[in-house]
Amino acid sequence: MRDLIIIGSGPAGWTAAIYAARAELKPMVFEGAEPGGQLMTTTEVENYPGFPKGIQGPELMQLMKEQAVRFGTEIISTRVESLKKIDGGFEIIAEGKNYQSKTIIMSTGASARRLGLPSEKALYGHGVSACATCDGFFFKDKKVVVVGGGDSAMEESNFLTKFASKVTIMHRRDQFRASKIMQERTFNNPKIDVVWNKEVIEVLGVEVGHVTGVRLRDTVTGGESEVATDGVFAAIGHEPNSSLIDGLVELDEKKYVKTVEGTSKTNVPGLFACGDLMDARYRQAVTAAGTGCMAALDAERYLSH
Ligand code: NAP
Repeated sequence: MRDLIIIGSGPAGWTAAIYAARAELKPMVFEGAEPGGQLMTTTEVENYPGFPKGIQGPELMQLMKEQAVRFGTEIISTRVESLKKIDGGFEIIAEGKNYQSKTIIMSTGASARRLGLPSEKALYGHGVSACATCDGFFFKDKKVVVVGGGDSAMEESNFLTKFASKVTIMHRRDQFRASKIMQERTFNNPKIDVVWNKEVIEVLGVEVGHVTGVRLRDTVTGGESEVATDGVFAAIGHEPNSSLIDGLVELDEKKYVKTVEGTSKTNVPGLFACGDLMDARYRQAVTAAGTGCMAALDAERYLSH
C-alpha cells in the first residue's frame, strides 16, 4: 500500500505532488481524462505570480509537471474508474488495475458547463464548442456567438476575434460579472458586439448538420428572435468533477466537495480535496495551487500520526 495517490493533474494536483514528493511520500498522480486540466485550453495566463510577461496555460502546466517529476512523482496517464474505502486506506481501479493507498488527494477540478439544449448536443463539434483555444481556428472569417458574461466569455471572445470576422456576446442580463480589465478589453475590441438580456434557447442547423444560427428569448420581454451565426461558444461557467466520490464524501448542493474550513480535509479521514473541486468561489490557478499545497501538508500530517 502506497502513502499517497493524487487524482487530477491541474495546478492543484501538481502542487500537491511537488510538496508530497519533497516530503518523500512518493506520490502517484493519475492524470485523468483531461491532463493538465482547464489551463490546457487557456491561452495567455497573465495573473500567475512569477511570470511578469505572462505564460501560456499549457506551458505553465508542463513546468509544474516537470517540477513534480524532478522530486520523484510517479505518473499514470489514465483516468480512475472507481475509488472505495478499504481497511487502512483506499482502493482505486484504473484501466482494470488495482492500486491501494493510505491517503488520497482529489484534485479533479471542474469542467465547462453546457447550455443543456438537445440542439447544442446534436451540433457539438459541428459549430458548437466550449473551447475557443481548441476550435477558434475553424472559424476563420466567420461569425460566432459567445454565450456568457464572466471572465471566460470575455477571454474567449477576445481570442476568437483573431479568427472570426465578428463575435457577438449574448448575455442573459444587462451587465457582465467579468473583471473590469476584461470588460474594458471586450468593449474596446471593434470586432465584438454585445447583445444584452438574451438567452439561447435553440441552436439552429440540426437538419443541415452544422450551425446556421441561434434562436433567442429576451429575458425581459419574453419575445423570441433568430440570429444567423456559424458558431456558438458556451462560456457559462463550470461544474465540479466529483462523480467519482459522490456517495463516499460529503458534497454541497452544487456537488462541490465540502472541506473543513481552512483545510483540505473532507469528512472521510485520509481523503483530501483541493482546487476547483472544492472551491466554487475563487477558482484561480494560483488558489488551486495554494489548496494543493494545503492538501499535501494535511496528508503528510495525517500519515505521521
Ligand atoms: P462565471 O464567472 O461563473 O460566469 C459564468 C457566466 O455565464 C455568467 O455571466 C452567467 O450569467 C452565465 N451563465 C451561467 N449559466 C448560464 C446559462 N445556463 N445560460 C446563459 N448564461 C449562463 O464563470 P467563468 O467566466 O468561467 O469564470 C470562472 C472563474 O474563472 C471566475 O472566478 C473567473 O474570474 C475565472 N477566470 C479568470 C480569467 C482571467 O483572469 N484571465 C479567465 C477566465 C476565468 P450571470 O452573470 O447572469 O450569472
